[in-house]
Amino acid sequence: MLTLLWLLGLIFCVAILAWVRSGLLNGCLAVGAYLLLMSLLGPAHWLINTLLWALFLGIAIPLNLTNWRQRSITTPIFHWFKKVLPPISQTEQEALDAGTVWWDGDIFSGRPDWNKLHSYPAPKLTSEEQEFLDGPTEELCRMTHEWELTTHLQDLPEVVWDFIKTQGFFGLIIPQEYGGKGFSAYAHSQIAMKLASRSGDLGSTVMVPNSLGPAELLMQYGTQEQKQHYLPRLASGQEIPCFALTAPEAGSDAGSMTDSGIICRGQWQGEEVLGLRLNWEKRYITLGPVATLLGLAFRVYDPDGLLGDEHDLGITLALIPTDMEGVAIGRRHFPLNAAFMNGPNSGKDVFVPMDYLIGGQDMIGHGWKMLMNCLSVGRSISLPAGSTGAAKMASMTTGAYARIRQQFNLPIGEFEGVQEALARIGGNTYVMDAARTMTAGAVDLGEKPAVLSGVVKYHLTERMRQCINDAMDVHGGKGICMGPKNYLGRGYQSVPISITVEGANILTRSLMIFGQGAIRCHPYVLQEMQATQDPDQQRAIERFDSLLLAHIGHALGNAAGSLLLGLSCGALIKTPGNADTRGYYQQLSRLSAAFATLTDTTMLLLGGELKRRERLSARLGDALSFIYLASATLKHYHDQGELAEDLPLLRWGVEDLLAKTEQAMHEILLNFPNRAAGIALRVIIFPLGRRLTPPSDHTSTVIARHMMTPGATRDRLLAGCYHSDDPEDVTGLLNSTLKQVVLAEPIELRLHKALRSSELQHDSNTDLLSVAAQSGVITPEEAQKVREARQARSAVIAVDDFSKEEMRKRPTNPS
Ligand SMILES: Cc1cc2nc3c(=O)[nH]c(=O)nc-3n(C[C@H](O)[C@H](O)[C@H](O)COP(=O)(O)OP(=O)(O)OC[C@H]3O[C@@H](n4cnc5c(N)ncnc54)[C@H](O)[C@@H]3O)c2cc1C
Repeated sequence: MLTLLWLLGLIFCVAILAWVRSGLLNGCLAVGAYLLLMSLLGPAHWLINTLLWALFLGIAIPLNLTNWRQRSITTPIFHWFKKVLPPISQTEQEALDAGTVWWDGDIFSGRPDWNKLHSYPAPKLTSEEQEFLDGPTEELCRMTHEWELTTHLQDLPEVVWDFIKTQGFFGLIIPQEYGGKGFSAYAHSQIAMKLASRSGDLGSTVMVPNSLGPAELLMQYGTQEQKQHYLPRLASGQEIPCFALTAPEAGSDAGSMTDSGIICRGQWQGEEVLGLRLNWEKRYITLGPVATLLGLAFRVYDPDGLLGDEHDLGITLALIPTDMEGVAIGRRHFPLNAAFMNGPNSGKDVFVPMDYLIGGQDMIGHGWKMLMNCLSVGRSISLPAGSTGAAKMASMTTGAYARIRQQFNLPIGEFEGVQEALARIGGNTYVMDAARTMTAGAVDLGEKPAVLSGVVKYHLTERMRQCINDAMDVHGGKGICMGPKNYLGRGYQSVPISITVEGANILTRSLMIFGQGAIRCHPYVLQEMQATQDPDQQRAIERFDSLLLAHIGHALGNAAGSLLLGLSCGALIKTPGNADTRGYYQQLSRLSAAFATLTDTTMLLLGGELKRRERLSARLGDALSFIYLASATLKHYHDQGELAEDLPLLRWGVEDLLAKTEQAMHEILLNFPNRAAGIALRVIIFPLGRRLTPPSDHTSTVIARHMMTPGATRDRLLAGCYHSDDPEDVTGLLNSTLKQVVLAEPIELRLHKALRSSELQHDSNTDLLSVAAQSGVITPEEAQKVREARQARSAVIAVDDFSKEEMRKRPTNPS
């Protein structure tokens, strides 16, 4: 028994040394000292001691002899690593090189520094940004009526277009020196969120020029002349931009485009100059049909060797005025009844001079890198903001509707089934808002979070889809019957658009998030890959050797961390937080260590094959994403002052994410490519089994109640969403009615009690409220309040109907 305890002590000692990353020599000395004590004081049989010493010396001595280690251990691993490295195409390499690593790096390290997370400043608006939100943005929302534009106009009204241009909505990100607003990423996100909470079409129209479009590209890569010429025109709305990457044969695999630019000499303004002859066919291009300036991606070829020996010079970007001869643009697609401009365009033998290329001739072939860098910024802001806006709108309307709509003599939000859906909407909205804010904040700190932009793009659009689906279910027929009174249906129809654009979601989840993250954010893999590229073999092996040692220490440390934190339920680690939240940080530390262990083992076992194992990659990406979203949610709660009333929202969000992280890891292990490794990993990751549970029913009920009740928690959840109390407005009616219904409820309750106790009697010929007022059960003012609340309720639950002629006239079909 004592021998067993000494052996367990040895394992514990090794685990602690690995966890604290003691270093090779220190670790060996400590283990040697323990073995010495064990041999001198312990009761173990001499044979056990001898075997342990043999094992220890057999590992420790060779590892500490640097020259021997490099020659006999590192060199074969170096050559094996070179061989199994996945072949990386140029576009993949450029995607890998793009952007920066931020909090994702901490998650991959297996030991996120929570104090660092808290020290990132909470994004704030300047007074100018706040004024723009409260003024023109609010006004633009008020001017826009979804039904009118999606059904009658199939376009934004002229007055709305003018307002967008003259108020500078197309120049939010353009610096003030070029006539733009020069707003922060956070302000941009707040504006996009508010617009999208009013109308998806409004959101898309404003978002595109401020996201991945000519302005962002010009700001990062344009020549001084291009910036001086175009940025002021874009900021003032004089130019309407679009960006065309997607082609019929090149959708998700955009790099495979056949659109071409041939280097040649041609006539330009009466002179013969060097330029490009462009031919392209693009589709799905947002704002294309009304664009005056087309950002175009194409592949450059130099068949006559006018620039050098290379024939295929790679993907390149240019700005093409759409009124040039040979450009065909203007026709529209009709994306799921949405009214924002979207359509195909093409160009036939369009000759442009070299200075039409973004950044000029020097940027030939750098197009993919330019796009990836801009995508890391744009994708961090637009779709996350639009999705959160839609989720806030779903929270606002569904919370109100669940209190207003009654069935079985109760508000439907009192039923547990509806509460479950309401809590999902509210909880998801809270998480989305947190992730949106933190990621936009990262951009304001100068980051270009390439991997995290994919995380928020995928997870926020998916959670938005969940919110809208739940909102539709809670609304029943009210959400289904289209017409001016329906505030949900168009948003529901448009969900697949956000899912598809800026990297279709299946691809983003299965290929991009972990595929890019594993190399980009891992503390050693990218450096190891770079070391193998060094032409000086000796130097390469020496560098690889030190990286390898550090990598092994990192892997062992994370495995030990996962095991020790798993055994202690996270209690062994010191984290910030209070009695309510500390456990969440501890669990996240444990799961990060487990995630890092899974990452290393999977990459070791699969190498380049991981690219084809999309389901595994997707689940690893999910684990990374859930830990990121939970980090953001905890930071959001912290930044908002850790308000006790918001605790249920935090609980729902984090518990849902923790449980989903465990589930993703469980599924990874179930499907692990190597069964023995899968079993060993399960012991390290789940030493006490799976312990994390989804949010409780009680938490769901509390959230549902908050969503149905006007108050500070509901206001904080909905902050930044377009809000009207005007009963003439389609969503304003819900907000004003909610207040009326809440005020009328205690009066209604007294009426019910009086009726049940026969204190009040009436028949179908008398008006209950008048009788109650006359008999003194309620006052005449109270009777009036109830009457008005009932009328408002009837208006809310009403849906539209149309005559046959009206149905025939409605131009939802453009042909
Ligand atoms: C309304 C709208 C607006 C748009 N605006 C613009 C714009 O302004 N500019 C622009 O250039 N483009 C724009 N796009 C194009 C958009 O980016 C593409 O639709 C998108 O890249 C997907 O291409 P695809 O539709 O051809 O789908 P496909 O590439 O055919 O993909 C179909 C499905 O296969 C999945 N898939 C593909 N490859 C893989 C893989 N390796 N692993 C796993 N799954 C995979 C995808 O995830 C998707 O689910 C827009 C599209 C729409 C619908």
